[in-house]
Amino acid sequence: MAPGAAPDCLLSIALRTSALAGVSPGRAGELCRATLKRMHRGYDMNRPHFEGWHLLGAFPDDAPDDVGSWLLVNNEEAMLLEVPPGLTAKIVESALDRAGATLRFVTASHDHYDHLDVEAWDGLFAAFEGATFIHPRAIARHHDLMLRVGGEPVWLIKAPKHSASDVVTVFRGVAMTGDIETGMLASVNKEVPLPTKRKSMDWLREFPERSGYHVHSTVSAHLNSVRRSVRWPDLFKCEQD
Ligand SMILES: [Zn+2]
Repeated sequence: MAPGAAPDCLLSIALRTSALAGVSPGRAGELCRATLKRMHRGYDMNRPHFEGWHLLGAFPDDAPDDVGSWLLVNNEEAMLLEVPPGLTAKIVESALDRAGATLRFVTASHDHYDHLDVEAWDGLFAAFEGATFIHPRAIARHHDLMLRVGGEPVWLIKAPKHSASDVVTVFRGVAMTGDIETGMLASVNKEVPLPTKRKSMDWLREFPERSGYHVHSTVSAHLNSVRRSVRWPDLFKCEQD
C-alpha cells in the first residue's frame, strides 16, 4: 500500500460502519483520525487496561520496550507511578485534568534511568508542590509502605531483586512489578546479592498473607508482561538451591 493510503482507506471503511452511522462525515473523519492516531501510537489494542490505572503513555518514544507511566486514580486523588525520560509536568497536568484528580504522590519502581529520570523527576518536583515524592531508595528494604489515594490503599513493597531499589506497587488488586523477573531467582544483572534476592522473593510471596490483600493481576514496567487471574505465590517461587 502506498504511503499515506492507509488512513484514507481505513477512513472510508470507518465511514461505512454502523458505529459511525448518523455521525456527520466531518465528525466521523475527526473520530477516525483520532482512532488511527491512537492505533499508530500503539494504544487501545495492545495496552493493558485496569480500573483506576490511567496509562499516560510509554516513554521516551512510545516504542514497544519503553516504560509505561501511570496515574493511579481514586476519588479525585492520584499517584504517579514511573518518571521516565520525556515525561513532563504538562503531560501529567493534562492527564490529571482528564482524570479530574489532584496529584498526591509521585514514585517509581526503581531508580534505573529509564524509570526514574532525574531531569523529569526534578521538573515534576518543581511543578507539583503539593505532592509527596517517594524515591524508591527511601523505602526500607523488605518493608511494605501503605499509603492511601482517595481512601484506597496503595502498597509499596520494597524487594530488591533486579535492582537495589526495587519496589512493587499494588493498587486495586493490580501489581506493577517493575523490572523484577517473576518465577526465577535469576536477573539480567548482578546488582543484588543472591541472599537478598532470595529474601525479596520470600517477602513478595508472603505479601497477601501478611497484608490480607488479594492481588489478581500484574503488569511489568515495560508493559510487555500482563497477567490476569494470577496465583500470586507462584510468581515468587524460586529454586531452593
Ligand atoms: Zn531496571
